[in-house]
Amino acid sequence: MINTTNTSEITPSKPALKIQGLTVSYGDKTAIFSVDANFPTASMSAIIGPNGAGKSTLLKAVIGVQPILAGQVHIFDNPIKNNLQKIAYVPQRVSVDWDFPTNVIDVVQMGLYRQGGLLGRMKGEQTSIAMDCLDRVGMADMWQQQIGQLSGGQQQRVFLARALAQDAEIYLLDEPFSGVDAATERAIIDVLKSLKSKNKSIIAVHHDLATVRDYFDYVLMINIKNIAEGLIDETFTNENLQSTYGGKLELTHAEELSAPRDRPTK
Ligand code: ADP
Ligand code: MG
Repeated sequence: MINTTNTSEITPSKPALKIQGLTVSYGDKTAIFSVDANFPTASMSAIIGPNGAGKSTLLKAVIGVQPILAGQVHIFDNPIKNNLQKIAYVPQRVSVDWDFPTNVIDVVQMGLYRQGGLLGRMKGEQTSIAMDCLDRVGMADMWQQQIGQLSGGQQQRVFLARALAQDAEIYLLDEPFSGVDAATERAIIDVLKSLKSKNKSIIAVHHDLATVRDYFDYVLMINIKNIAEGLIDETFTNENLQSTYGGKLELTHAEELSAPRDRPTK
């Protein structure tokens, strides 16, 4: 498999992703202002906040899709510049237009292109890596399907397989469980847990407050600016939730938090 990372870099004391004073604007509208974050290595981190809080913008700024107005991003203590290949990104599903005809295995092989891994790689080897990644998300049987004809949950699995093909160190996912069925949610969380067990770092924008405690170790709570950041037990408190959601948090959500449902645990 592809591995471009010096494993000595990956120590729990170094944050996988460190963000300092990150400010991003769309024209004269500030989407995030001076955000700091220290996402730990070999952990599952959640980014939570209300709609329009700047969660997607934060991820896009990290991967360089959205220009940064101010601030710095480091991965494993190195500037992100020249280290982008260590990051795999799974966009929010609604942001992808699947009108162009392409099949499942081609989408997964795009992950290999981003790595530059196609150079010198035999076609058979590419196919075998892509099929292995599809197998890990339970989609190997559908490798020839047109992507546009899959359900939302199936598309999300294929996206995750593409990220796996990149063999990255840090996985950024934007609402990976949005609009997927329970079986897909469980399949995705299992894959993410297995990445974590291999010392990979997972950072996901997450909208379902009821599963934050079950799925994640660490949380960044933002609403344009930082609200709170840290280990779940200390940080994911009602007080911080009220600050993050500006009093708009429904009581029913808060109640759900204290009544964990039957979900896979971390
Ligand atoms: P979240 O993911 O937390 O819902 P976003 O990062 O998508 O929030 O958006 C943050 C703010 O930036 C919102 O007010 C949104 O309307 C605005 N925004 C997002 N993308 C664009 C864009 N391409 N052009 C202009 N404004 C945008
Ligand atoms: Mg978003």
